[in-house]
Amino acid sequence: MSKVAIITGGGSGLGQATAVRLAEEGVNISVVDISEEGGNRTVEMVKDKGADAIFIKADVSKNEDVKNYVDETVSHFGTIDYFFNNAGISGSGKYFLDSDIDEIEKIVGINLLGALYGVRHVAEVMKKQGSGAIVNTASSAGVIGQDSVVIYSATKHGIIGLTKSMVAEYAKDGLRVNAIAPGPTETEMVRNFYKDNPEMKENAESGIPQKRLGTPEEVAELVTFLLTSKAEYINGEVIRIDGGFTNVK
Ligand code: NAD
Repeated sequence: MSKVAIITGGGSGLGQATAVRLAEEGVNISVVDISEEGGNRTVEMVKDKGADAIFIKADVSKNEDVKNYVDETVSHFGTIDYFFNNAGISGSGKYFLDSDIDEIEKIVGINLLGALYGVRHVAEVMKKQGSGAIVNTASSAGVIGQDSVVIYSATKHGIIGLTKSMVAEYAKDGLRVNAIAPGPTETEMVRNFYKDNPEMKENAESGIPQKRLGTPEEVAELVTFLLTSKAEYINGEVIRIDGGFTNVK
């Protein structure tokens, strides 16, 4: 039987690259995104690899949308084996005391509440099945402090707490929950962020020991490894994939 994955933020960047990589392993995918255009494009890319895929439109910051993407996946595919809990946005790059409350609510709503709602509903299905693997997307900003990203960093540190504590409660029920902490990676999100803050791109590249940004395909490879049975005894880990960036800070 083919395995089934839900990928949030599946319409672009890390989510899209992971959908394609998992499809190469024969995994069927529920592509969840707020963008219909991106989500539908990913569905076509997955089908081109010979796996099945559906697009489910959702705003992950709304609990009812999250419950719906979980229910729709179960009713279409019958199960959820893998969950890449990945949708997220960056901040404005402003210093914290210059940011307004709307920005705090928006980033926390998508990056942290969205991830919590996702695990809340998906893990319920996995616990009943007695198995399932989850990868939550944190960030290098989830393992170190940096300026200009206070709100984003708070949400990504939260993702790591969610990851570790889920393991404390549900590893005994067959769940594996890990997090990835990518450094700056060439996706739409980062291209837009650096367009608005060009000096930060130069700083980032010069601060990375490998002197380049990561690629979505490199991250997809890690997520695929963590989700599939090759990583059966890895649980509660935060794996950094950042060209050495956070090791030399
Ligand atoms: P991206 O912008 O290429 O993709 C993000 C996707 O999420 C988009 O398709 C977007 O439409 C979707 N999305 C945004 N808000 C949503 C919402 N409310 N509901 C549903 N979908 C929504 O960005 P990416 O770089 O692939 O980012 C994916 C994740 O990786 C994010 O959580 C981000 O914080 C994290 N991350 C990215 C980097 C990086 O450098 N690219 C580094 C560390 C962590």
